Amino acid sequence: MKLKKLEYHERNVPYGKIDKKHSYEESVHLVYKVFQNLDHVFGKIFKNFVESGKIDVFPKKGKRSGAFCSDNLIFQPTYLMLNHTDKLNDILTIAHEAGHGINSELMKQKQNALNFGTVLSTAEVASTFMEDFVLQEIMKTADEELKLSLMVEKLNNDIATIFRQIACYNFEKELHYHFRERGYLPKKEIGKIFQKNMSAYMGDHVEQSPGSENWWIYWNHIRNFFYVYSYASGLLISKAMQKKVKENPRFIGKVKEFLSAGLSDSPKNIFLALGIDITKKEFWNSGTEEISSLLKETENLAIKLKKI
Ligand SMILES: [Zn+2]
Repeated sequence: MKLKKLEYHERNVPYGKIDKKHSYEESVHLVYKVFQNLDHVFGKIFKNFVESGKIDVFPKKGKRSGAFCSDNLIFQPTYLMLNHTDKLNDILTIAHEAGHGINSELMKQKQNALNFGTVLSTAEVASTFMEDFVLQEIMKTADEELKLSLMVEKLNNDIATIFRQIACYNFEKELHYHFRERGYLPKKEIGKIFQKNMSAYMGDHVEQSPGSENWWIYWNHIRNFFYVYSYASGLLISKAMQKKVKENPRFIGKVKEFLSAGLSDSPKNIFLALGIDITKKEFWNSGTEEISSLLKETENLAIKLKKI
């Protein structure tokens, strides 16, 4: 973009043009193909969601925005809510919410009512896992210009899902610490702590513009104490599992074991059975290394296309 510095609110400005329309039917077809390739059980569960009317697809008057998967109790059906508007990102949203849905259906098969559920640290593993595989499928048919835009978007999303959430976690930690000590914090001081932690992850290339010190107010996750870390841990664990599946497609059997495990054991033990030790620093570093290599790849393609 030939800019030295971005304003705080500009940090998610999309790069390039991703304007091709993707109908819901087309998107479902693509997601189904990817799921079916990974494991026919994933394909079957997804097909069932689509065909039995478990997905509320399009925006309409009075309907809330965003997307989610509803799976409250073990004996209730799983429903997906979307707001599909034919954008490329909407395909990824289908994959994301269907990932939650598949997770829930697999738990139903193996767990009882008390073990049905996901802990925070793994709540976003299934969703981000499926999303990334669908994105890779989209990349396969993209020309280099589109590929570059998708790679930049992917980097941006990874930064938002991992680094921004960790920054928010650190902000919350400091906030709770000071609050416990003093019992009250004026908004100016909260703003200062917020800005300090936000600039720590954005670095020198993003301006902490006037007003941005108040942007913790709209971030409602902060009221659900420390929820934010589930995004960072979920995506990093899912990246490690993706790597293992790419190395050996049979590893998907282990992924299914994890997706069925629910609350039957601690995340540490569930992953140990899969050969992943989440207590090791190296494990988490290997996830962030994947992002570094995507950044390198993106830079190389940008140079090749004479964009930088
Ligand atoms: Zn999710």
